[in-house]
Amino acid sequence: MTQVAKTERPARASYDVVIVGGAMMGSSTAWFLAQNPDFNGTVLVVERDPSYEFAATSHTNSCIRQQFSTGLNVKISQFGAEFVQNLPRFMGSDAPKLTIQNFGYMYLANSAAFADVLRASHKVQVAAGAATQLMTPDQIKAAYPFYAVDDLTLGSINTVDEGYFDGITLFDMFRRGARAKGAEYIANEVVAITKNPTGSRVDRITLATGETIACGQLVNASGTRGAKTAAMAGIDIPIEPRKRFTWIFTAEQPLDRPLPLTIDPSGVHFRQDGKTTYMAGGHADYDPAVDQTDFEMDHTIWQDHIWPAIATRVPQFEAIKVIREWVGHYDMNTLDKNAIVGPHHDINNFLFLNGFSGHGLQQSPAMGRGTAEWLVYGGYRSLDLSPLGFDRVLRNQPYLEKAII
Ligand SMILES: Cc1cc2nc3c(=O)[nH]c(=O)nc-3n(C[C@H](O)[C@H](O)[C@H](O)COP(=O)(O)OP(=O)(O)OC[C@H]3O[C@@H](n4cnc5c(N)ncnc54)[C@H](O)[C@@H]3O)c2cc1C
Repeated sequence: MTQVAKTERPARASYDVVIVGGAMMGSSTAWFLAQNPDFNGTVLVVERDPSYEFAATSHTNSCIRQQFSTGLNVKISQFGAEFVQNLPRFMGSDAPKLTIQNFGYMYLANSAAFADVLRASHKVQVAAGAATQLMTPDQIKAAYPFYAVDDLTLGSINTVDEGYFDGITLFDMFRRGARAKGAEYIANEVVAITKNPTGSRVDRITLATGETIACGQLVNASGTRGAKTAAMAGIDIPIEPRKRFTWIFTAEQPLDRPLPLTIDPSGVHFRQDGKTTYMAGGHADYDPAVDQTDFEMDHTIWQDHIWPAIATRVPQFEAIKVIREWVGHYDMNTLDKNAIVGPHHDINNFLFLNGFSGHGLQQSPAMGRGTAEWLVYGGYRSLDLSPLGFDRVLRNQPYLEKAII
């Protein structure tokens, strides 16, 4: 099932930067690096599966929001929104103009305690410049008559730069742009990482085809395999693959206005997809780390959990039909559901780009930019990502993101 193309050999025996994983994060980093006039080094991106069939990037729901519980994540997504909506400015006049379908995320609370969480997050978001608004159940009903609101205590929505966008085109632009600017991509797998005798630096990587390649700096952008790649350098990170399900459905009676990305108190989320199609996502109640080859659909989740929750919240969705479904994995950071980014404290030419916990697609512009800054300048220049650094993992001090989906 996870057959790996191990066919391409690198052109050189040594690179300034080696990136392990060439999906969204690896390609965003390669692009930001390659277009930086202060960088004139060599970049090798090693990708074990250039079809990206099992990458999180290929299974994403492509949504972007500013409703996070940490100000830094709000800022990261604000740059994501600016980048997505201004591709020609950032990538050149040939780049397509992408839009964000700004129907917003609608977080719904059905208890006083959860309403307090929404109020606290609202303060954080507004302080960071987000346009989030709190809504009473009556206000929700007036704006979106299709919702059942009797059990609700509060809602929270932001319709500025919050919705979904064409994430696959963005990925394609990063990857093609990075290659065009000189980053070398090969279909191969990194199977070992060798440090220098004192263990203070990564010296080289070994490929599945047997070559050893010297590297100046190494970026771990290997998604759900991030912990495996870190372990090759003797580093332990709390990242696990988690299974996430997506369904596309039609309704016998489509809604009369766009459906926000609704985060129901049951944990189910659903949104407008096409003009008359909708998307729902969720996971099983029991949500362990899964085997990296397990992409099996579990139909009972839709039947017993997702559909009942959707039809309860939007009674018009009693009559719906699933037209497409898929299973993906994302890289959950079990410490605090936030990214781990930046250098290892001892092995400081080993950089993390891991643990995006379901919000990595929208974070890719800011993460690629920040990682490239670190690689070139040894520090962040635009947005300080150091609260997401590896130190907190070492100290076991979570930098918790409460709003994950
Ligand atoms: C169902 C689902 C819905 C999602 N919805 C959203 C959303 O709405 N909004 C959002 O922002 N995010 C969303 N995400 C999360 C987002 O898709 C991910 O955070 C993002 O794509 C991560 O990109 P990545 O490059 O880090 O990892 P991946 O896309 O998993 O890529 C890692 C790559 O590394 C390669 N690799 C691994 N090990 C090696 C090795 N040893 N050698 C060579 N190559 C290797 C793999 O083959 C893979 O291609 C969703 C994820 C899922 C699964």
